[in-house]
Amino acid sequence: MNVDEPVIHTHDVLIIGGGLTGLRAALSVFYAGLDGAVLSKVHPLRSHSVAAQGGMNASLANVPGEGSVPDSWEMHAYDTVKGSDYLADQDAVALMCREASATVRELEHMGMVWSRLDSGRIAQRPFGGAGFPRTCYAADRTGHNALHTLYQQVIARQIPVYEEFFATSLIVADGRCTGCTAIEIMTGKMHGFSARATLLATGGFGRVYSRSTNALINTGDGQALAFVAGAPLKDMEFVQFHPTSLFGTNILITEGARGEGGMLLNREGERFMERYAPESLDLAPRDVVARAIETEIAEGRGFEGGYVHLDLRHLGADRIRERLPGIRQIAIDFAGVDPIEEPVPIQPGQHYAMGGIDVGLDGAASLPGLYAAGECACISVHGANRLGGNSLLETVVFGRLVADAIVRDLPQYTVPQGDDAERAVSREDRRIDDILKKRGGEKAFSVKKELKDIMFSRFGIFRNAGDMEAGLTAITRLQDRFRTVSLSNSERGVNQALVRYLELEGMLILAEVVARGALARKESRGSHTRADYPKRDDDRFLAHTIASMSERGIEISFRPVSLGMFSPKERAY
Ligand SMILES: Cc1cc2nc3c(=O)[nH]c(=O)nc-3n(C[C@H](O)[C@H](O)[C@H](O)COP(=O)(O)OP(=O)(O)OC[C@H]3O[C@@H](n4cnc5c(N)ncnc54)[C@H](O)[C@@H]3O)c2cc1C
Repeated sequence: MNVDEPVIHTHDVLIIGGGLTGLRAALSVFYAGLDGAVLSKVHPLRSHSVAAQGGMNASLANVPGEGSVPDSWEMHAYDTVKGSDYLADQDAVALMCREASATVRELEHMGMVWSRLDSGRIAQRPFGGAGFPRTCYAADRTGHNALHTLYQQVIARQIPVYEEFFATSLIVADGRCTGCTAIEIMTGKMHGFSARATLLATGGFGRVYSRSTNALINTGDGQALAFVAGAPLKDMEFVQFHPTSLFGTNILITEGARGEGGMLLNREGERFMERYAPESLDLAPRDVVARAIETEIAEGRGFEGGYVHLDLRHLGADRIRERLPGIRQIAIDFAGVDPIEEPVPIQPGQHYAMGGIDVGLDGAASLPGLYAAGECACISVHGANRLGGNSLLETVVFGRLVADAIVRDLPQYTVPQGDDAERAVSREDRRIDDILKKRGGEKAFSVKKELKDIMFSRFGIFRNAGDMEAGLTAITRLQDRFRTVSLSNSERGVNQALVRYLELEGMLILAEVVARGALARKESRGSHTRADYPKRDDDRFLAHTIASMSERGIEISFRPVSLGMFSPKERAY
């Protein structure tokens, strides 16, 4: 074979992303007897899912709540819709909550090692915004456990996994998505992947922000790929800030720490959540707790540098060692603090993207042949604020359901023409060559750093029009400066600088989408808090923000939320 000949791989279903969503989807495609393959820019076990700590929600009702009624999927749906500040689509929420218990049991049957009660049943801990102890967990390493479990299943079935392949573009032919191009990071060779249907399962975009709990690889590539290919994005201004990330490094300290009884204290030793959420206290939803901590710090009741304390000492050494071993180790290694003896310094950090690729209940994007699920998608189960423990649930439930929908839809998609993939490969090859030839100008690092700082300071926990306008202008300036960026490494193989460059290109687009959505939404709802519009405005904004790319640039429109069992009311905790 001529080394310059394009390499085209053909599969029925191409799954881009090897986290929980991608791996669960791959199994369903396999069960249907179809040829599916997974493509991932890192080894699947390094996907961010592996870092999930606190747990996965399901109304198993293994631990009684405070009242006499046991937990139910309807109560789970109610908490989720209320937590979302009524922006979640209630049909999607009902579907997820109904499937939750079976999903936890399915993982159990695959070999997942859930933590147990003395009775032998799967243990459940209280989490923020939940009326019952509903979060199933594997100590504080739930994602690690779940991802290894699914990966074993994928390996056992010899499902092909293209590891360390970076998707650079979606192939669109005759208005339909027919796969992607991807650079093999080791060799720098561009490959074509031709598929009847393509599923994006590429995770979140936390790293567009500074102070993020996310893995360095969470750069939102899938959202950018879809957007550039013509698929709109939804609700991108809703960015979750987790109340407790470790001061200094922003490594996550799970909500499970408060679920086990941990308390937040300000510099005066006061349990300040009593003033912000008198009933739920430290276990109010994340948007409420993050705002409370920021307010304490802004009003001078935090510690120097901007943090408060998370106190776990009263839980006792045994419980901390058994239920929160990972958290203890992180606090010792990265803050020099042993939670058995001292409180942990924490501050809010960017954590999760509620918004993503606009898809329907079946995961289908508006571009035929393209589907999305997991954190990169917005099927809208989290609305304006996600409850802890609902994302791991979403990945496995919709990894399965969306793959099932693809299997159902597949007969309508013919096998794509090989030439389209070949043409896309040569186009992408030329583009990479041009990038590697660039000289002089800026370094990608400085553009990226400025972008992250702008996002955190202008589109953070508290927002207002003036700051956001200035932020948007700064983002468009960075987009201009990015055009001059060159790389100091011009090799094709193992060029991590090239991968970071391609990520940054997409991050600059997503930042603008967040900014335009946040400016257009003139209200406060869930994680989107505007000092200039402090109230929720259901008359105008009980609606999803839809961002699309047109010849005039990014355009924003709104689409009504699908309501259902629960009518919007004021949210109090
Ligand atoms: C520290 C932390 C703790 C968390 N704890 C919890 C928790 O306890 N409970 C909970 O419900 N949620 C938790 N979350 C959220 C939850 O873990 C994530 O939302 C979820 O795991 C995302 O899964 P995913 O399958 O959508 O994507 P990911 O697991 O992020 O996987 C994305 C995949 O896409 C691939 N990819 C991306 N771009 C490309 C590209 N260009 N080319 C090829 N491949 C690409 C990556 O290689 C990776 O395999 C936590 C999140 C963090 C950051």
